[in-house]
Amino acid sequence: MRDYPRIVVPPPGPAAQAIVRRDEEWTAPCYIKEYPLVVARGLGPMVEDVDGNRFLDFMAGIAVCSTGYSHPRVVAAVKDAAGRFLHICGSDFYYEGMAALCERLAKVAPGPSRKRVFLTNSGTEATEGAIKLARYATRRTAIIAFRGAFHGRTTGAVTLTSSKARQHAGFGPLLPDVHHVPFAYRYRCQFCADQDACNRGCIASIEQELFTRHLDPGDVAAIFVEPVQGEGGYIVPPAGWLRDLRELCDRHGILLVADEVQCGVGRTGRMWACEHEGVEPDILLTAKGLGSGMPIGAIVARESVSTWESGSHGSTYGGNPVCCAAALATLDLVESELMGNTARMGERLLAGLRKLEAKHACIGEVRGLGLMIGVEFVKDRRTREPAPDLLKSLVLAAFQRGLLLLGAGKSTLRLAPPLVVDEQDVDTALAIIDGLLSELD
Ligand SMILES: *Cc1c(COP(=O)(O)O)cnc(C)c1O
Repeated sequence: MRDYPRIVVPPPGPAAQAIVRRDEEWTAPCYIKEYPLVVARGLGPMVEDVDGNRFLDFMAGIAVCSTGYSHPRVVAAVKDAAGRFLHICGSDFYYEGMAALCERLAKVAPGPSRKRVFLTNSGTEATEGAIKLARYATRRTAIIAFRGAFHGRTTGAVTLTSSKARQHAGFGPLLPDVHHVPFAYRYRCQFCADQDACNRGCIASIEQELFTRHLDPGDVAAIFVEPVQGEGGYIVPPAGWLRDLRELCDRHGILLVADEVQCGVGRTGRMWACEHEGVEPDILLTAKGLGSGMPIGAIVARESVSTWESGSHGSTYGGNPVCCAAALATLDLVESELMGNTARMGERLLAGLRKLEAKHACIGEVRGLGLMIGVEFVKDRRTREPAPDLLKSLVLAAFQRGLLLLGAGKSTLRLAPPLVVDEQDVDTALAIIDGLLSELD
């Protein structure tokens, strides 16, 4: 018998409540705090709270804990690195971990071109650096991003972000010359939702509308795209779409920046989501799953694009030695065992969810790649009206039953468990979701 999920006191229990009260007194009010989970420890796909409740985790700390909680090989690598030196500043000096990780990422990145790698502390720092690099390399200023995109929260990155107006409100003026265009969101597409197949209307409109009426393509430095849109609702573009976007970029000398902060490092069953389409981006961004929870990200650029000169960019902590060790251990695990498991478990989860789709009318669409799966809820399948309240109730009720979930977009359940989940974990999550949908809908 598994010892999780196991609810011993309805969460939040007394120990959790005390910490929540203290947190609420002193932390900045901008934090969201989805539900009162107060973590004491974790192991694999299990998270234990301070009252002894054990949860099955299907959100991985926002798709970060790729190797599960406290994987012994990641913990050993972190301990070993921490015991030697905590910091020296990779922008100014050398150490093996940084050289090794940059070499590793350059070699594992999609496409045949030689790459150069810049290490960051986070996803948003990777976006920020990529905006600078794209402008520097092209000497053009404009940036195109997609509606529903999430690229981070620092001022430049949040300008590209277009998932919630609240993330912009009161913070302007943001970066000038950023243009948003419709994403390949088949289920709600203004061009092809009612057609049998995607007609690439969104890509055509970039040239036929944006480039003829508003913006000269010769001024565009880069198009930023999430190969699978994350925060916007776990949206997988139709096959061939990313290749068409690559061709559009090539026609106009625009750089293609693939933001794989959420969908990269094995999450979709391949090392990078771009690989499903055989596309080589000019710049690839990674973070989240790369360090198994240690803060690290990277800008992986084709050598021909990585033209920034010595001193033009840097980061005091980026590529911290302890984080490099965590990332190297993570990549070892993802390559040797977790990518295969992700593809297998992703198929099982997707198949189970399709059965739930047939059973529960509140499910409008199930979509995903590997262990990055979205379940979009609607009030009515015909009108496709989103059902955000149902999503909220489901996430909270699942927490009470010992399953950690999270939403994305307006009313999509995002399933992004640690890549170590097994058949029993997948079946347990499916059974809990099935039961709750029967109760709630
Ligand atoms: C989370 C996320 C970011 C921002 O990463 P942070 O580490 O939170 O700054 C950027 N892009 C995508 C696709 C993300 O999912």
